Amino acid sequence: MSTFPINKFANIETPFYYYNVELLKETLECANKEAAKHDDYHIHYAIKANFNPKVLQIISAAGLGADCVSGGEVKAALDAGIAPEKIVFAGVGKTEKELRLALAADIFCFNVESLPEVELINELAAEYSRIARIAIRVNPGVAAHTHANITTGLAENKFGINYELLEETIGSIKNLKNVELIGLHFHIGSQILEMNDFAALCDRINEIQDTLESNLNLVLPNINVGGGLGIDYHQPAKNPIPDFSAYFDAYATNLKRRSGQQVHFELGRSLVGQCGSLISRVTYIKRGTCKQFAIIDAGMNDLVRPALYQAYHEIENLTADGTEQDVYDIVGPICESSDVFAKERSLPVMKRGDILAIHSAGAYGEAMAFGYNCRELPKAYFSTEL
Ligand SMILES: *Cc1c(COP(=O)(O)O)cnc(C)c1O
Repeated sequence: MSTFPINKFANIETPFYYYNVELLKETLECANKEAAKHDDYHIHYAIKANFNPKVLQIISAAGLGADCVSGGEVKAALDAGIAPEKIVFAGVGKTEKELRLALAADIFCFNVESLPEVELINELAAEYSRIARIAIRVNPGVAAHTHANITTGLAENKFGINYELLEETIGSIKNLKNVELIGLHFHIGSQILEMNDFAALCDRINEIQDTLESNLNLVLPNINVGGGLGIDYHQPAKNPIPDFSAYFDAYATNLKRRSGQQVHFELGRSLVGQCGSLISRVTYIKRGTCKQFAIIDAGMNDLVRPALYQAYHEIENLTADGTEQDVYDIVGPICESSDVFAKERSLPVMKRGDILAIHSAGAYGEAMAFGYNCRELPKAYFSTEL
């Protein structure tokens, strides 16, 4: 199954991220092609999933816009050559400095998450003699079938403005001179594989649009439905490219668009998740009384998803000698008991020096790496450069 240049890996210090550029490009092409089957669908890549500058270059070259959640991400998007008119900016706690950066660049839209934020944007936009375009991020009260830490569309989550407070909020901002309300924004969570969750979001959006139209006579030109499409962590080789066709169809079927209404998507994980792997060497095989540990040189600081979300990643021994299997807990060197990549995993027998690939690590992998234990951040290598 492996398509890795394993002979090249032999000379590279581990751990490192390896990106399959061909797969990334194919995935972007597929997403673009499927979106283009529908009128006025726009994809803004969610930069937080992976902000490696080379990854951003490829995404920018494929013509996607950007979804940013910090000033640093707005800057990264601009640096990658993504046009300001394709950039949207969300986040519950945008600071004055971040807002100024985005105002100066004249980005397409601020996805606003509270009234005080709108008031600050209005005040700052006046200084720049601009009218800032805003979309209200609505907390739709729609549950996503995913891990509790990555669901975002419930009243108990900090994100957005509760849909029940929407009319009141619109009333409070209508006299502000330097903001223009151009749309509504939603994002219910991440790693969502049930198309019904997206259909439920559409139902709520339909209700909201109907209410705004009948109560306020308001029809907005943009609906941003956020991201959240999941990937197959269990069978990455079988499903390297997510089902973008079914995803966009779920919206085409269920979302009642007003005439001319533009639909925006903020895909992160589904675009970059499968193209990246974390490559690591086995440092020791250690037998305990009830367990056998494969201690590897990658840690939770390099890929935090298993520790943070109990996330599953396929792990492949790229240098296995035979097919005989054994059972391992695959752990890192960090001084935390949560530094575990897999428990009770059956794999071809491993020995010190074997090279492992931890699959599906292109999203929220390198982007979330940190330097705990004075460890160096992992480097990245690209298939086209090795
Ligand atoms: C994280 C995030 C996304 C992307 O989510 P994915 O699950 O990676 O597609 C989109 N929109 C917003 C506002 C986000 O915070």
